[in-house]
Amino acid sequence: MKINHLGIATKSIDEALRFWEDALGLENVHTETVEDQKVRVAMLPLGESRIELLEPTSDDSPISKFIEKRGGGIHHIAVEIEDVEASLKILKNKGLRLIDESPRIGAEGCLVAFIHPSSANGVLLELVQSKKD
Ligand code: ZN
Repeated sequence: MKINHLGIATKSIDEALRFWEDALGLENVHTETVEDQKVRVAMLPLGESRIELLEPTSDDSPISKFIEKRGGGIHHIAVEIEDVEASLKILKNKGLRLIDESPRIGAEGCLVAFIHPSSANGVLLELVQSKKD
């Protein structure tokens, strides 16, 4: 396993890029709207991993609620694994609380699924299965 990305909630990607790109020197290589999750995402490679900036596209986006409550910041950690579906079965059998019982399509067409923070030491954990080239 490795860290695929760190998801960071922000009211405005453009504003956030002033820090991550202009000040820190990272590069935004991919911007995309994920309709299903009501977010716009920007991906900035950082070593073997990436920073994923998340901007809500509507008031009922989960990211809107997170920003309302906490004012932005680290939203989730995403670990890259071989097979999301198989991992979900294992975690379910271990009694973990899953947000997604089966994988869905995330940014860049990856298969993703979220584990509830109540089962993951207070951290919203995303499992990511990268598309095979
Ligand atoms: Zn993510």
